[in-house]
Amino acid sequence: MAAAPSPATLPEPNPAPEPNPTMATALLAWAGAQARELPWRATRDPWAVLVSEMMLQQTQVVRVIPRYHAFLDRFPDPRTCAAATPAEVLGLWSGLGYNRRALNLHTAARTVTERHGGRLPDDLDSLMALPGVGPYTARAVLAFAYERPVGVVDTNAARVLARAVAGRSLGRAEVQRLADASVPAGQGWAYNQAVLDLGATVCRVRRPDCDGCPVRHLCAWSITGFAAADPALGTAGASGRQSRFAGSDREGRGRVVAALLAGALSAGDIAGAAGWPDDPARAERVVSGLVADGLAVLDDAGGLRLP
Ligand code: SF4
Repeated sequence: MAAAPSPATLPEPNPAPEPNPTMATALLAWAGAQARELPWRATRDPWAVLVSEMMLQQTQVVRVIPRYHAFLDRFPDPRTCAAATPAEVLGLWSGLGYNRRALNLHTAARTVTERHGGRLPDDLDSLMALPGVGPYTARAVLAFAYERPVGVVDTNAARVLARAVAGRSLGRAEVQRLADASVPAGQGWAYNQAVLDLGATVCRVRRPDCDGCPVRHLCAWSITGFAAADPALGTAGASGRQSRFAGSDREGRGRVVAALLAGALSAGDIAGAAGWPDDPARAERVVSGLVADGLAVLDDAGGLRLP
């Protein structure tokens, strides 16, 4: 057996990354001058923020905006959503994809109505107990509705923190600790929006616009002359690329749900509705997934309907 290395030969652990208050100030000034106007930024209503965040998970902003307005017109609060049928909620979700999110939102609305008096809770544990609400979405509600000083970490924020603040790749717990510690007092809403904007529009995954970056002079990676590999590589949560949609099972799932919104399907119509009339085994696999996710119900004759 190899001898254990002596303490003198053990590699030094990476020091914990420190927040950069000067960069936070620069980011706030930049965001204040050019912030993107988005409808969910004009509200602090926790339900509206949750709806926007659930829709924005894996769906582009331009596709979300009209659905966000339509959804809130019909369901302005958790109670109205909780009183609707799953089919109606799915109908308003149509076109956004990942329909499981709609059912999660519907169940969350019921939970909020039954256990929290119809108002979204304002603590992390209660928010994360809601279906479909993970660490990102829970903190987004806390920061963007309740203006709490928590770090909201999605792929954009993780990338910015790794490149600009730490200058090295970060583990999951490190990213969150650094994000939380970086929020200036009283700026939970504005600071998180600024970080997300920088990641979405300047510090992009590929070809970041370092020449036009408002914090280039402070960016830890830039200061080294970009000598090391991209710190975003290997950073937890910093690579969130979606698999191809066209030709995927997700596309078939979407087609079946769209067909179900128009009415129940007989067993013989399912493969065609999925887009694979010559591949019933694949359609069957997709239907099994929809049923397991609670998005569809099989009848005794093998037909399919919405729950
Ligand atoms: S200088 Fe480049 S890498 Fe650094 S934060 Fe700005 S865009 Fe990102």
